[in-house]
Amino acid sequence: MAALRPLSCRLTFLTERRSEWQRLERRNIYKKKWASSRPRVPNTQLALHNMDMSYSLQFGERWPSIRLALLCQQKYAALLNGFGDVEAALREMERRQAGDFVYESRRERAGQGPDWTSRARPRLRPAQDGQTPASAGPAPPASGGDTAREPPSVLETNRSVPISPNLKCFTYPRGDITRFRPARPDSLRLLEYYLMDAASLLPVLVLDVQPGHTVLDLCAAPGGKSLALLQTECCRHLAVNDISTSRLSRLRKILHSYVPKNARTEDRLRITSFDGRHWGEVERNTFDRVLVDVPCTTDRHSVLEEDNNIFSRLRLRERQRLPLLQTQLLVSGILATKPGGSIVYSTCSLSQLQNEYVVERAVEVAETEHNMELRLVDLTAIRTLYSDTFNFHGCCRVGELVLPHLTANYGPMYFCKLHRIH
Ligand code: SAM
Repeated sequence: MAALRPLSCRLTFLTERRSEWQRLERRNIYKKKWASSRPRVPNTQLALHNMDMSYSLQFGERWPSIRLALLCQQKYAALLNGFGDVEAALREMERRQAGDFVYESRRERAGQGPDWTSRARPRLRPAQDGQTPASAGPAPPASGGDTAREPPSVLETNRSVPISPNLKCFTYPRGDITRFRPARPDSLRLLEYYLMDAASLLPVLVLDVQPGHTVLDLCAAPGGKSLALLQTECCRHLAVNDISTSRLSRLRKILHSYVPKNARTEDRLRITSFDGRHWGEVERNTFDRVLVDVPCTTDRHSVLEEDNNIFSRLRLRERQRLPLLQTQLLVSGILATKPGGSIVYSTCSLSQLQNEYVVERAVEVAETEHNMELRLVDLTAIRTLYSDTFNFHGCCRVGELVLPHLTANYGPMYFCKLHRIH
């Protein structure tokens, strides 16, 4: 019958049907929106799922052990407060049979002959002057399809590991999961020690602050590494910065509880809240040492805590942009370093995209866009020195990575050192 109707009738019929379909379609879209009432996947599960996909490729058969350690209780160390009643704190550590890993590792290795500090990294060969950049050996398992790229620069080997004698950090041996009690005020009314993941001290040790140095801690809050930097008592001036004012107030409280007023004077300690990405434009070529401990996916936190979790669906864009932000912060840190000075980049993520690739990209930007020359510092000596305390990955293209392990449940902590030539 419809075929026999006049054309105008058929058109009206079709127009009516189309608007009906459109209404239907719109309703469906609307329904889809309401379908968000479907069971919500916890952020920690989203994090684990994401990590299972990328890290099982990156770490292969090591991933299940790392995953288990991430989900189990993290191990803490006690960074002794050198400004406090050190004698009393040392007695307490002795009573608890905890050992200072910074000192003891050096003492134990010293008996093994002079070779341990200069053992060459097999995959990265130091290049002679005038040679092409060091080439990489077997590439680590690829992550996200990104495969072998050359390390950014000529390698510089740290033959000795000069470490401030003022840093004392106490741990229990491998396999011992005893916990330290919370720190109490000592006879000087300062807290006796600061509880931290021992791996967080590695970027500070590697930065190798020497007496009289000017130091910048670009992303400093809540302040564990700034406190360790002050504990070295080597900083002529320490600039502490973080974009978050609320996190900076936590940092202020920490410094207040551990550092006496005379060591916090304005000429020695400056606390600011700037966007670190622009620091290099304002204070170029200024610091002997720069620590760039960037915001990252904080892997351990992300698999355990629902709140403030970067794997939340609402923070997808922020998470995707992390490598860019990290690169911008590192470039800014490099610009703020004096020629001859050093930069340490660190994260508490296992992700190659946030670790090695950020370093490689930042070096490329600094060299091509700012005409700088940088050397990558070989940290094999540090890895060898602390291998009794930490479980190192040992396969990073650039830098070192501490892997969580049930017998030494520290990290993840990635760190990489660059030396600015000019
Ligand atoms: N170094 C700190 C410590 O040891 O306690 C931890 C730093 S945390 C991993 C990263 C910090 O970077 C956060 O406190 C965050 O507020 C800060 N941050 C994020 N974006 C920043 C930016 N554009 N400039 C400066 N700081 C930033």
